[in-house]
Amino acid sequence: MAMLLVIGSRNRKKREEIREILGDLPLDLCDLTSWPDAPEVVEDGATFAENACKKAVELARYLGQWVLGEDSGLVVPALGGRPGVYSARYAGKQGDDAANNARLLAELASLPDDRRAAYYVCIAALADPTAQVRAVVEGRCHGFITRELRGNGGFGYDPLFLIPEYHRTFGELSPRVKHALSHRARALAQLRPVLLKTIRSSEF
Ligand code: IMP
Repeated sequence: MAMLLVIGSRNRKKREEIREILGDLPLDLCDLTSWPDAPEVVEDGATFAENACKKAVELARYLGQWVLGEDSGLVVPALGGRPGVYSARYAGKQGDDAANNARLLAELASLPDDRRAAYYVCIAALADPTAQVRAVVEGRCHGFITRELRGNGGFGYDPLFLIPEYHRTFGELSPRVKHALSHRARALAQLRPVLLKTIRSSEF
């Protein structure tokens, strides 16, 4: 029987990306749709790492399963690091990508191109069925914020996030390219050997 790992996120796009990135591992990747009564984890940590660990630990404790907790967001140094841990609710309402993008564009409107640098951060935390954190990994992806929305791929801030080497935003680039370069792919690449070792040791 394949090993069960629960993706502890209610963000559908994010879950899809994690599935695509880890899909080749001998794992039964489940998500919270199989546990509709699982608690909503309050993301009140001051850092991405605190939130990722909180998601992994609280859900592992409730489910008694291995859980992957993930927290991610966009950091704009010219804005003092905002939106940061508030990326999903930057304009007020949780998960309102259009409003978040509009706020980001408005806040950067007066800045010249060389001050529009930004990076995505992803922290992934793996908790075991006893709710102990076994690994915490981080991935980053650097780019620039464009002056208008470009493309409808990806999610969140992707139509504004320019990858300079490609002269395209993540909204315009294919999922294949995003999964080669993204903060999520880079974090999960570090988690891969930990997962393989755990699978091999029959700990799952
Ligand atoms: P979380 O569910 O609290 O981790 O929220 C992450 C938020 O950060 C998302 O709602 C997006 O606004 C933003 N974000 C994280 N990763 C990405 C990405 O890969 N593309 C675009 N936006 C992202």
